[in-house]
Amino acid sequence: MFSTALKYRLEKELGLCVTHCSSMAALRGTLQGEAPEFALAVLDLNLPDAPNCEALDYVISKGIAPLVFTGSFSDATRDQILAKNVLDYVVKDNPAAIQQLVLAVDRILTSGKTQVLVVDSDPESLQRQVSLIAKQRFQIIAVETGAAALDVLDTRGDIDMVVADLDLADMDGFALLAEIRQRHGDDTVRVVGLCKSEDRMVAARFLRAGGDEYIQKPFLVEEFNSRVFHVAAIQKRVQSLHRIAARDYLTDIYNRRYFFETGPRLVDQALRRGELASIAILDIDHFKRLNDTYGHEVGDIVLKAVSRRLKHRINDRHLLARLGGEEFGIIFSGLGLEEALDYCERLRLELAAQPIEADGEAVTITVSAGLAAISGRETFDNYLNAADQFLYMAKHAGRNRVFSELSLMSALAS
Ligand code: GH3
Ligand code: MG
Ligand code: MG
Repeated sequence: MFSTALKYRLEKELGLCVTHCSSMAALRGTLQGEAPEFALAVLDLNLPDAPNCEALDYVISKGIAPLVFTGSFSDATRDQILAKNVLDYVVKDNPAAIQQLVLAVDRILTSGKTQVLVVDSDPESLQRQVSLIAKQRFQIIAVETGAAALDVLDTRGDIDMVVADLDLADMDGFALLAEIRQRHGDDTVRVVGLCKSEDRMVAARFLRAGGDEYIQKPFLVEEFNSRVFHVAAIQKRVQSLHRIAARDYLTDIYNRRYFFETGPRLVDQALRRGELASIAILDIDHFKRLNDTYGHEVGDIVLKAVSRRLKHRINDRHLLARLGGEEFGIIFSGLGLEEALDYCERLRLELAAQPIEADGEAVTITVSAGLAAISGRETFDNYLNAADQFLYMAKHAGRNRVFSELSLMSALAS
């Protein structure tokens, strides 16, 4: 009954494809020959025809990672299980055991999406943490110094959590934490500190300084795994809330809030690295008239279609957002004024060339855009203002055109 209930929940709640074997014989039958690939095995330690963990050794020998559950449990069993290549174990001694198993399966199957940076200056200790975290199937980068850790965080934008020993060869763990918070904020990366100090104030200080979790060395495997999993789960939830908060409800592209949050950082980064970048504001022409003629609902369909087209045409390395109404902001990373102008001109021509099907009507729209180059030491707001001024000029010059410094210069030249 336990297996049936578990199979049902794994299939219904996690959408998994589950094969149930009720005995060692059935297990052998399933894994023989052309067996399908299994992501993991959930197995009872005591099968009627395999009382001595034979099933556990067998699935491991087949290269399948096991998650173990068991009714009887002792310290000896625990040590025996942990000595093998077991993902985790759940004791079947309470009604919540099924729930625990479902959660354990879920987090193991999703942990591959979490990037963990492990930092420890003691190679042996580093290796131990790496092997524990690897067993839980997280993606891992391991470094031995605080400086290397900061480097990795700077160059890769995808680190979800840092697991750092606080006694680093080149840097105090508290200094590392402060530097991470300073450069990356409180929310983009979670930090777990490890320390073998007996002084309980170390944990308190670390958490008060903005650390997310603290693990005292030496630790029990179960404690380490649980704390790391817990922090990873929180991080995934925070990220998914951020994703929701960053989206425009109508068009599903980034919203104004995200643009104003991320824009200054992109500008700063481009200036710091001496890379080209440009910023554009693009606005649909006579949109009010369109609403008045066809109705607000058609207006909404047009907004969605324009967003979809822009998103489709604008590479992910650039930032596209709906700033409000029928106005879009774009930050072109790596593009100077001339290239960005080219890009905007093409967008403008494509949007005008292809009417939008809405409610049986074929609606033709045009857009105007203002474009400013990001160079010199201006603030994000100033660049945005410049783009807005150029947009204003484009509107006044008759709409359906892109304006920038280059247009000014050619106007002056003629
Ligand atoms: P211009 O060419 O100068 O940009 O003229 P315009 O009519 O496009 O600009 P204006 O700022 O006068 O009007 C923008 C209109 O956009 C007014 C507003 O009702 C409409 N609008 C704003 N948000 C939405 C929306 O979410 N859906 C729809 N359908 N219309 C919207
Ligand atoms: Mg408009
Ligand atoms: Mg407008």
